[in-house]
Amino acid sequence: MSRSDLTEAAGRLSACRRIVVFTGAGVSAESGIPTFRGEGGIWEKYDPDVFGNIPGLGQVWLTQPQRLLDFITDALDTFLAAQPNAAHLVIGKAEAAGRIRAVVTQNVDDLHERGGTRTVFKLHGDLYTLRCLRCGRSGPLDRGRMERIRDQLDGMRSGRLAILKKLWEIMPRCGECEGLTRPDVVFFGESLPANVLRQAEEETRSCDAFLIVGTSGVVYPAALLPKLARSRGALVVEVNREASPYTEMSDFSFFGPAGSIVPELIPESPRPA
Ligand SMILES: [Zn+2]
Repeated sequence: MSRSDLTEAAGRLSACRRIVVFTGAGVSAESGIPTFRGEGGIWEKYDPDVFGNIPGLGQVWLTQPQRLLDFITDALDTFLAAQPNAAHLVIGKAEAAGRIRAVVTQNVDDLHERGGTRTVFKLHGDLYTLRCLRCGRSGPLDRGRMERIRDQLDGMRSGRLAILKKLWEIMPRCGECEGLTRPDVVFFGESLPANVLRQAEEETRSCDAFLIVGTSGVVYPAALLPKLARSRGALVVEVNREASPYTEMSDFSFFGPAGSIVPELIPESPRPA
């Protein structure tokens, strides 16, 4: 990456008013949420074949409630501690300034929203939304409630039956029918929310620039979006830790931390193109 390339890419982007930003685990990793499969990630400690789907989690609840307790505690600690980084913040500001149309993300955290972005299409769902297992209604799980659940987990450390019972008590219920709820995220084997994917495709089809941040593009169908942008003639800019399947199709690729590169690409006061 050379300084002149960065200046040139920023100049080209400053002329764009319909930028779509496509983000993945890399941008959240810089905020303290390790990529699930990466070093220190949650799948290093918990088998994704068991903990990565609802039937598996239900089975763990019944047979090893202590393990489920540990899993939920680890997950909540990680997500509650994360703070938006410079990339999230500058993206939020560029949206407010009318330069960015939407963020399409594969992350289930709330860092883009907390970074000020209003239009976020979450392809893999939202950890801060609960869906009723009985009636299907969705409702928000605000951070305060998540923190209270986290606090309650600390009190239960012994006895399989006691933990099982206590978990049953503190699991969030549906506001309508009192049914058990689940996080509205896409688990393994589940399909992406069709309406979200359709809206993301629509924005991508009409964007003038497509900015890839922190995603190496192996998970379909999300991985098709950069190709769609490219085929529609959009400027494609990539920010990743290392070369990816997107590098070849990108007009510019920058390798390094999103938190330092993205603010250079979409500065708060862009120079006129
Ligand atoms: Zn319900």
